[in-house]
Amino acid sequence: MTSGPHHTLDGRTALVTGGASGIGAACAAALAAAGAKVHVVDRDGPGAESVAAAVGGVAHTADLADPDAVAALCAAVPEVDVLVNNAGLQHVAALHEFPPERFALIQQVMVTAPFLLIRAALPHMYARGWGRVVNISSVHGLRASAFKSAYVTAKHALEGLSKVTAVEGAPHGVTSVCVSPGYVGTPLVEAQIAAQAREHGIDEDDVVERVLLERVPLKRLIAAEDVAALVVWLCGPHAAHLTGASVPVDGGWTAT
Ligand code: NAD
Repeated sequence: MTSGPHHTLDGRTALVTGGASGIGAACAAALAAAGAKVHVVDRDGPGAESVAAAVGGVAHTADLADPDAVAALCAAVPEVDVLVNNAGLQHVAALHEFPPERFALIQQVMVTAPFLLIRAALPHMYARGWGRVVNISSVHGLRASAFKSAYVTAKHALEGLSKVTAVEGAPHGVTSVCVSPGYVGTPLVEAQIAAQAREHGIDEDDVVERVLLERVPLKRLIAAEDVAALVVWLCGPHAAHLTGASVPVDGGWTAT
């Protein structure tokens, strides 16, 4: 990478979980374009390989539900300057029918793995006197929707973890911020759109406008690249005072 005014992350090492797809893949590309060496982590090995190859990064195949795999990952990448906790999954079911094992899996991937990764990354960040933790939360870290108990619980927990990281990291030059998108056009959401279209017997455009974006003033899905651009900005020179906060990228949803 050549250096220049936009290469704010030259010399930095970034690790992006769930980097094979959607928002994570967009973050990997944007962080690499800003000069970072990017480690792309996903349980989808070929997906991680292909994103890493495209951005000049390094792929790691790891199931973040497995604490041993997280420990091996931390040992393989001991010096992380920018940690993007992004990997996630959804399960939609009424609370009284929600499968307990899916609930536990979602907490493991979306809360425990970020905790373990932050825990492992902080000593290096503290030694350097600089670090950026960006947690991809959701409007569902700030608001509830029916049938998403595990996801809403996990994202609210991630918001709390991020705040504690901000408080402890502040004396060491480490910031921690949640980026909280509304609906972004990625495979995670496309699967929900297809399922809702089948369930309600309406077409997919109507699902987007009338179901997903019912409470959202801007009736458009968000682009993963727009979320990634914010992540890069949060790692840049003008974001040092933005910590412990949650930044909604939500088309006005949380304003309603
Ligand atoms: P996506 O499904 O496109 O990508 C998620 C990635 O995480 C996939 O590559 C998947 O393989 C990986 N992953 C899932 N479980 C894993 C595990 N156990 N170990 C390792 N990797 C695993 O989804 P996305 O929409 O890009 O979502 C990324 C993040 O953004 C998630 O945390 C999601 O909750 C959050 N988010 C998404 C939206 C949206 O509308 N798409 C909105 C708000 C927040």
